[in-house]
Amino acid sequence: MTEPSIFTRILNGEIPGEIVAQTDRVFAINDINPQAPLHVLVIPKTEQFRDVTELAAGDADLLAEMVALSKQIATERANGEYRLIFNNGASAAQSVFHVHAHVLGNIEEGRLVG
Ligand code: 5GP
Repeated sequence: MTEPSIFTRILNGEIPGEIVAQTDRVFAINDINPQAPLHVLVIPKTEQFRDVTELAAGDADLLAEMVALSKQIATERANGEYRLIFNNGASAAQSVFHVHAHVLGNIEEGRLVG
């Protein structure tokens, strides 16, 4: 049995982290190290999928639910426009192997990172 991911531990209240939005199957937290004025992580409540490739093949509805919540957050906290990033693998800067979307918004012109 592997250890719960840091995101599961936040969801379970074992470590601090405010849930800023959620649906039945997905939750969102502010990134602890924001790379843009809006930087939210949108995460499935279960950690059965490591990355978006597995998620898309295994539960496309859940992926669609993540995208819908991302759009909702971008509408509420930015102008509805957003950058959606999935890192896939350690050499692509993935550090938490519980699939999550980075939702970035309110990015100043010329300040696109990564
Ligand atoms: P990855 O590199 O796996 O795509 O993204 C992991 C993200 O999780 C990083 O952007 C990192 O800042 C964020 N993160 C890591 N630990 C915590 C934490 O304890 N709380 C929050 N809110 N974000 C975290």
